[in-house]
Order: sequence, then structure tokens, then C-alpha cells
Amino acid sequence: MNFPILPGSTLGILGSGQLGRMLAIAARQLGYRVAVYSPDTDTPAGQVADIEAVGDYLDEERLADFAQRVSVLTFEFENVPSAASEVAARHTIVRPGGNVLHTTQERLREKTFLRDHGFPTTPFRAVKTYADLHAAARDLGLPAVLKTASFGYDGKGQQKVFPQSDPAEVFANLKGAEGIYEAFVDFEKEISVVAARTADGKFAAFPVFENRHANHILDVTFAPAAIEPRLAKEAVELAAGILEKLGVVGLLTVELFVTKSGRLMVNELAPRTHNSGHLTMDACVTSQFEQQVRAVCCLPLGSTALRAPAAMANVLGHLWEKGEPNWAAALADPHVKLHLYGKAEARKGRKMGHLNACGRSVEAAIARVTAARERLLT
Ligand code: AMP
Repeated sequence: MNFPILPGSTLGILGSGQLGRMLAIAARQLGYRVAVYSPDTDTPAGQVADIEAVGDYLDEERLADFAQRVSVLTFEFENVPSAASEVAARHTIVRPGGNVLHTTQERLREKTFLRDHGFPTTPFRAVKTYADLHAAARDLGLPAVLKTASFGYDGKGQQKVFPQSDPAEVFANLKGAEGIYEAFVDFEKEISVVAARTADGKFAAFPVFENRHANHILDVTFAPAAIEPRLAKEAVELAAGILEKLGVVGLLTVELFVTKSGRLMVNELAPRTHNSGHLTMDACVTSQFEQQVRAVCCLPLGSTALRAPAAMANVLGHLWEKGEPNWAAALADPHVKLHLYGKAEARKGRKMGHLNACGRSVEAAIARVTAARERLLT
């Protein structure tokens, strides 16, 4: 079924957050109609879609009805139960396929897939019982990172384990959930590769992004990453191998560590666009969102070329603590672009929007977006 799904058709999106919003805007620009499905109303994606369907991800009847109304269905959020994609797949084309969602929505399955296919990743063990935790600490040592296997993001459900940690407390923090114990990676930096693959196996990756976090949440991304060309090439080759082995049709993000000895290790996969790819909206010939539409609709992939060194700074909810941020001050630099997600309530740590800018150098672009963000509080 590699025929193109042409503009005028309806693209369905499961999930309705900011990634869905920017995907919907890109799809509309290409002339598609957009329908989103999630349990919520007046959502970032729903606000810009033709149809905002409301239903539980496990409501088979509503999902089936929704799937029948769309020509192709994709995701903006991977924590959709894989049963939902199975139901949808009986009625429409689902891209990426349910197997991709199934593998990437659970850390143990994801890391097992990576290890079994020879992709470099940190050693890990499953932790179901207290005895498993002791065995993992004995085998992999300390410090380490213990994560809940499912539903974690932005460092949620994650703890660093030190030699002096109390194992009973560490285990209790899992709150009965299955855990994954990972050897601690003493990394130099974090990078990501956002890549697309079509149904006939064509592949395109964006330039490698370098990511800086604050309080476990992405803070600033810039491109190109400050790494040797050899490592950038290797990162893209790794991504190409992962998309091929998983059989991805659509977009997938590979988050990687660069270790202090200059090696790459895959940290995490996301079967969708990614926060680190937001700078593509203003810095690349094709944005990550347009690329996802092209890939799932079997249109030729767009150029991923970077027009200039670029940076993105996230705009999080704490910036509302003293009232409405000063948008005019941020935009006083005419090269800065503002993207807001239409979220009514600003909570601490909530992703409300982002700022993008290009510059003569990566440093200049970073300085632009971070200075603009600081002006939000003036
Ligand atoms: P994750 O939710 O897996 O993306 O992890 C969130 C962040 O925690 C990563 O971006 C890293 O900064 C850090 N982290 C995760 N896993 C490890 C690890 N095995 N070793 C060191 N740091 C880690």
C-alpha cells in the first residue's frame, strides 16, 4: 500500500498535545484535513484541527469510528495503548505500525530491541523484585539510574542510585511498577537524530541536534551539534539502522549520549517528532512536522538541510509565575521566532512554547534565544 495519500485527504493524529498541533499546522499547510483523537477537549492540536474527537484510548467503538474517518493515522504521543493502534489498524493505515509503538513505549522492550540488534546502549537489567534490584546493583554497579519501564518522560519515574542509597527506599520508589536498572553513563553531551523513512525505504535525517537539559527537561537545543563529523555520520547511520530494523514508516527520534571517550550510546527512541527538532521549523528547508506528513502520506521526503546555525529555547510554565510573559520584549530581536501551544494553564515545568533563532554561529543563535527568553521576565 505505497500509494500516495494526497492533499485533501484526512490525516488522523492520536494524541493532542503540542507535537500534534505543529503536525496539524504542517498538514493543513500541505492541504490536508486533520482529525485528532484524545481524551481531552480544547487541546493544543484540537484548536487547529478540522475535527477534535474526544474519547478514551481504550474506547474501541469511538476509536473505530474515528479511524474510519481518516485516510492515514499517525501518533504524536507514544503512550497510547498499543491495543488502540490495533483497533485503528482494522479500519485505516497506521504509520508507524503498531509494532513500533509497542517496542518504543516500554523501556525494557526498547533496550532489549537495541541490544539484540547490536545497537550500542548502556547495560541494563529488569527489576521486578527487591532481589532483582540487588542482583542488578551487583552486576552493573553503582551509581546507576533506575527508571520505571513504562510511561516515563522528562525524568519522571526516574532516580539515580548511589552507593550510599538505601535499597529499600529505592525499591519502594518504584511503587510496584516494573523497573529498568541502567548502568550510569558518564556522558559528555546529549544529542538526537530525528529521521524519517518512507514505505519504500527512503531515509532522510535532520542534522544532528545537541541538547542541554535543566531539571531533567530539555532547555536548549542547537544545530549543528558540536561534535566531530565522524560522530555525526555515525549517529545518522545508527538512526538509519534503527528505523530500518524497526520497519518505521514515518518519523522516529533517537536520543543518544556521547560518552567522555567519544563513543555513542542510544538512550531512548521516540516514534514521532521531538522537542529537540523544533528548530527545524525555522532553520531547515523542511520542518520535522512537514516531514512526518510527507513520510506517512507516501510523498517524497523534503530536504533536511539546515539553512544556518540555529537554536531553540523552551518556554516553560514557570515563566508565568509573575504574570503574562513579556512577548513584545522577547520579539524585540526581529530574528527570534515565537511558537506558543495554546495551553490555558501554565504549570511549573509544563512546555508552553519555544523560541527559535538562526545566527552566524551556533553560539550567536543560542545567545539570541536565551536572551529573548530572559526578556520574557522583564
Ligand atoms: P530518559 O527519560 O531516559 O530520556 O532520561 C532523562 C535524562 O536522564 C537523560 O536525558 C539523561 O540526562 C539522564 N539519563 C537517563 N539515563 C541515563 C543513564 N543511564 N546514565 C546517565 N544519565 C542518564
